[in-house]
Amino acid sequence: RAKSAGGNRFELADPEADARAITRHGLTTALPAALERGEFFIEYQPLVHLGDGSVRGAEALVRWLHPQHGVLGPDRFIPLAEHTGLIVPLGRWVLEQSVRQAGQWCERAGGAGPLRVNVNLSPCQLTHPGLVQDTVDILERAGVRPEALCLEVTESALIGADDDLLKPLRRLAEMGVDIALDDFGTGYSNLANLRRLPVSVLKLDRSFTQGMQQFPADPVDLKIVEGIVSLAHSLDLAVTVEGVETGAQAEQLRILGCDTAQGWYYARPGPPDRLHELALVDATG
Ligand code: C2E
Ligand code: MG
Ligand code: MG
Ligand code: MG
Repeated sequence: RAKSAGGNRFELADPEADARAITRHGLTTALPAALERGEFFIEYQPLVHLGDGSVRGAEALVRWLHPQHGVLGPDRFIPLAEHTGLIVPLGRWVLEQSVRQAGQWCERAGGAGPLRVNVNLSPCQLTHPGLVQDTVDILERAGVRPEALCLEVTESALIGADDDLLKPLRRLAEMGVDIALDDFGTGYSNLANLRRLPVSVLKLDRSFTQGMQQFPADPVDLKIVEGIVSLAHSLDLAVTVEGVETGAQAEQLRILGCDTAQGWYYARPGPPDRLHELALVDATG
């Protein structure tokens, strides 16, 4: 937005908003070349079994090493990539890298047990006709079993989903890929609706974990999480909790029956080899 101040001089109405708009625009147009030049990279954050503390796998989280702006988090560019459709090739790249990474972890872990990888899917990827075949091809090329992959879809992406939208997810689930409902509890989905969805994991949003910061936690928060966990388990769904930052949170969530946890208390997202070290340390005591 610029106001003409007579002649051909322009005065910025709101310089800050304008700078943001330029950055948005600049980032959006830079996305395709960034993918070609290999400016994206993936960090992995461990998923830890709450019962025995072992590392079971990791969530893949994409970052952009921008030549001018440094490392940008996904919240800065995923919405832009969704808007332009670049999320489809970018998401496919993330999936391919992550699945290959999981293959390497499994190979190197040997007897320490398989390490699985969780990959986030955007709504645009869900409606893209190539999703199932791309996933099959990627798993095959990497020689990775479908059971080592979990695709995370947000609750809001599946609200009101009709059968056409659920079909590819059903196919993937039948193949053995796990489907997780990400950021669960932030949307408004009908709990009974869960039965229709081909999901096997609920990822409880960080906002619930935040309620467990004090010990003892807020009794209402405890009741809500307890209710969600028991409902999930009665539907045969595993419960993963996000955003665990303290030991007190981990302990309370474990007592409430949550299965897996993820958060800074265990590890921040990091390079792939770090996960391997964490899992190995873990396997050797
Ligand atoms: P998400 O899938 O819910 O991922 C969890 C986010 O919480 C990550 O943020 C992670 O770094 C952060 N986190 C983990 N532990 C803690 C903790 O203990 N405390 C706090 N405060 N935060 C924690 P990140 O990496 O910035 O990613 C943000 C979102 O971007 C993700 O949320 C996901 O929705 C999206 N995203 C990331 N990678 C991809 C991708 O490859 N494709 C798509 N479509 N979306 C992605
Ligand atoms: Mg996620
Ligand atoms: Mg999440
Ligand atoms: Mg989240």
